[in-house]
Amino acid sequence: MKYFGTTKINEKNHLEIGGVDLVELGNEKGTPIYIMDYDYLNKNIDEYKNNFISKDFDTEVLYASKALSCIGIYQILNKAGLSVDVVSGGELYTAYKAGFPMNRVYFHGNNKTVDELTQALSLKVGCIVLDNEIEYKLLSELCTKSNKKQKVLLRVNPGIEAHTHEYIQTSKNNSKFGVSIFEKQTDNLIKEINEDQNLEFRGLHCHIGSQIFDNKSFEKAALEMLNYIVDLKNRLGISVKDLNLGGGFGIYYSEGDTSQSIETTMKDLIKAVENILTEKEIRLEKLIIEPGRSIVGNAGTTLYKIGGIKNTFGGIKYIFVDGGMTDNPRPALYQAQYEAVIANKVNGDKKEMVSVAGKCCESGDVLIKNIELEEASSGDFLAVFATGAYNYSMASNYNRIQKPAVVLVKDGNIIDLIERETFEDIVSKDKYLW
Ligand SMILES: *Cc1c(COP(=O)(O)O)cnc(C)c1O
Repeated sequence: MKYFGTTKINEKNHLEIGGVDLVELGNEKGTPIYIMDYDYLNKNIDEYKNNFISKDFDTEVLYASKALSCIGIYQILNKAGLSVDVVSGGELYTAYKAGFPMNRVYFHGNNKTVDELTQALSLKVGCIVLDNEIEYKLLSELCTKSNKKQKVLLRVNPGIEAHTHEYIQTSKNNSKFGVSIFEKQTDNLIKEINEDQNLEFRGLHCHIGSQIFDNKSFEKAALEMLNYIVDLKNRLGISVKDLNLGGGFGIYYSEGDTSQSIETTMKDLIKAVENILTEKEIRLEKLIIEPGRSIVGNAGTTLYKIGGIKNTFGGIKYIFVDGGMTDNPRPALYQAQYEAVIANKVNGDKKEMVSVAGKCCESGDVLIKNIELEEASSGDFLAVFATGAYNYSMASNYNRIQKPAVVLVKDGNIIDLIERETFEDIVSKDKYLW
């Protein structure tokens, strides 16, 4: 068990984050609820800003919005001076509504629709990251129609296998993302984009996967990409100005997750790129990264209330919480592991082995298999850690369950970030037939 940021155990043996007792928070705001540690979130942002810098090239840190996207988060990032990437019209619209400067927005996605590209052009996003040839043609056409010149990167796939779960590896040779650097046609595509009067070709993007612990994987990707950049220069005379190495920096969820600090990871990466550039005698204008999980993941905790407790005939003891796969689908999707404590008796001594299950009508709705917790009673609060990334943003209304609220906590204060959905929200798009 590891506590991050301002998370601690207070004198009542309650869990406390941002100076707020989670028992009081649960009673006041209801459960389930996502709690974001404001100071820790800002610390992560600062660590990226302060360490992803080089004397040899410009740098830009983009927060990968899909980890957690809402107006307040974009406001925090804007204030901190970070840029963002968005992957859909909805994320783009949210950033726009938050007043986020559109020139610091990168638009990703493997299948941007005509509507999304049109929206991106009219909002004047800074850069569109092209995924494939059809998309390139479409964007070029839309630029002609609207008389706009758009900065673009091309997403390529360097065929790196990072050690992570199969579903979150993105860059093996059969990935659905980007075009392969080993494919002959990629040359032509880059040539076309580079010569296109409607577009300003800035460079290349890759993203080798997510929840990666081995910093060597990023260095390998950087080397592969820079080799390719030299190759493009030599063979086609095309110069790549910007290189975006994506995100995927791993975080601690449970024992065995060996994440490095942001500082170490960034310093290692910068050093590696500087060395490769020197060795190859080439220059980059800008190096870009896109961390999502590692900015918000460990800043988030989900608080549930425990209801039923059941001993199965097969020998498993379940404790049931008032949420589940609707607010955290990751265990069901890819066996993600989490740690948790009973928030109203953290330091007791009556441990027992249990499994934590949600309230959805799916046998797969088990949040944590086999965890040692304090002996639970109905009415206790359960805090599950590291839920800041890919939890709210992946939440669903399955079983017509309302999405929970999200709050920030800081210096004893609770600040609303996203309201809890109501039953009225749930039926708001339904039509009566008679
Ligand atoms: C998901 C994604 C990221 C962020 O990944 P994390 O693991 O959250 O850091 C960055 N770039 C692209 C293109 C992505 O798809």
